[in-house]
Amino acid sequence: MKKMNLIGQRFTRLLVIGEEPSDARGNSRWLCECNCGNHVIVTGVRLRHGVTKSCGCLRRDLMKERSRTNPVFRRYTGDVSNFSDEHGILYSSLKKSVRNKTGHLGVSYDKHSDTWFARLMRHNRYVLLKSFPTMEEAIAAREEAERTYLGRTTAQSSHESDNRKTD
Ligand SMILES: [Zn+2]
Repeated sequence: MKKMNLIGQRFTRLLVIGEEPSDARGNSRWLCECNCGNHVIVTGVRLRHGVTKSCGCLRRDLMKERSRTNPVFRRYTGDVSNFSDEHGILYSSLKKSVRNKTGHLGVSYDKHSDTWFARLMRHNRYVLLKSFPTMEEAIAAREEAERTYLGRTTAQSSHESDNRKTD
């Protein structure tokens, strides 16, 4: 097979500037100068098929570009402290959803009416469903209802299924 002379030809970022001895399998090899100034030796096959287009800087630039434009990619390649901050927020919001804002069963804040609701359900019926201007009053009402209807407070009987149903 007649060997092509690639000297002077450009393949994307690579300009062929010299011929190198063929490799062990007889593939022609060429000395190329990259746009960035690096010199690399590439086989003619890889040049003609577009397998090798630069000294390696093209791939690096593409990675950089992707990390700049793709937010997901950036999240995992970005500053480690950013990631842990974000993770921390996610984790804490998950934890918060386990219980309501007050941390008290049966007491919740309603932001539309700006009031606190105290609830207690007994046998699938509300025995307490009332709003209060402050969290303390709502908690007090809930605790009083617990004493009245359950005979004990949530803290002492958190295993009781009736309590769980209320929240
Ligand atoms: Zn380069």
